[in-house]
Amino acid sequence: MASTQEVIELYNKYVIANYKRLPLVAVKGDGAFLWDADGKRYIDLFAGWAVTGVGHCHPRLVEAIARQAATLIYMPNTWHIEPQARLAEWIATTGFGGKTFFCNSGAEANEAAIKLARIHASAKGKGRYKFITFENGFHGRTFAAITATAQPKYQEGFRPLVPGFMYAPLNDMAEVERLVDEETCAILVEPIQGEGGINVATVEWLRGLREMCDQRGMLLVFDEVQTGVGRCGTWWGYQVPGVVPDIMTMAKQLGGGTAIGAMCAKPEVAASLVPGTHASTFGGNPLAAAAGCAVFQIIKDENLLENAQQMGAYLRQRLLELKQETPLITEVRGTGLMIGAELAQNGSDLVSQCLAKGLYINCTHDTVLRIMPPLNITREVIDEALAILTDVLRSLKPAAK
Ligand code: PLP
Repeated sequence: MASTQEVIELYNKYVIANYKRLPLVAVKGDGAFLWDADGKRYIDLFAGWAVTGVGHCHPRLVEAIARQAATLIYMPNTWHIEPQARLAEWIATTGFGGKTFFCNSGAEANEAAIKLARIHASAKGKGRYKFITFENGFHGRTFAAITATAQPKYQEGFRPLVPGFMYAPLNDMAEVERLVDEETCAILVEPIQGEGGINVATVEWLRGLREMCDQRGMLLVFDEVQTGVGRCGTWWGYQVPGVVPDIMTMAKQLGGGTAIGAMCAKPEVAASLVPGTHASTFGGNPLAAAAGCAVFQIIKDENLLENAQQMGAYLRQRLLELKQETPLITEVRGTGLMIGAELAQNGSDLVSQCLAKGLYINCTHDTVLRIMPPLNITREVIDEALAILTDVLRSLKPAAK
């Protein structure tokens, strides 16, 4: 096996440097634990942006992937593929009974939703094409997705963007009302903003958006790429506020670590995506779809929604206790195992000190400690992780103002 240095040298020579990478090489994962090339163990409280939701290398997921790999790895979408149909059934029966289009990532899922919203409006002859999206949202890195992402840092250098996107502050109904016009076809929102700092959309506001979409014949689209597949302690993030969208997008946790994304739409909306309008070579391929089915089965069989609720409540309570102790934590928010702790200062030192002590944790939006462990995390592992976090918080000096 190559050493850390050898792998990093290969990167420096051959891989485009578009990511800020840790000087570490990951070689093995097991449940909530990770190991680097030097044999050091880390507790993974981030699950790779909520991708490894059933933990690293869950034995049943490994078995499902191995079985499918030995049977049929790839077939094009000109054929029917049983794992894809089964995965669509899981999405429909755990959600709002929609029909699904499969792709390979969250950005592509949002592209599909944006295209569907436009073609649906155009099929109805309404001439509508505009979208309302929200400040501090994040929807991916393709052109329509960065346009939908109302954060200038993701758009700089890439203009001109896709026409027709308008931005409002989250939870601000008056501003949405001001922006909506006869040409608006859809509102796109994350039920909880992930990259933007674990900002929770309020129930009243989401209800207001639903009502407005119904009254004006617009579509309500939820980006569930981070909130979906159990992350919030329910199958889907929309089930926490109980506001049902017309379209939802998903990825990350869906394939347990294999590359898959999907867009699920109410059948009457999905009907607008007729042959020739949209496609993906790898979308819903047998391998990723079999992995997706295993993820749903594991969450169901192992009661992981309940575990996410219980462990989420425990984690939030422990973080609130830490908030009492240190002025470095100013707020704790989130649902299920999608948790944010607002810090009084930039969190990058805290993250690197935790990493040095064997805890892999994330900070987003500069000051929000983001905690998204696997859904099967145990109290013991949380305790071990929080002991490290507490130590680091106690040793951190408040940043000079
Ligand atoms: N939507 C949300 C809410 C996300 O958090 C992300 C990624 O972080 C995306 C979309 C983009 O997903 P991907 O990186 O798979 O394209």
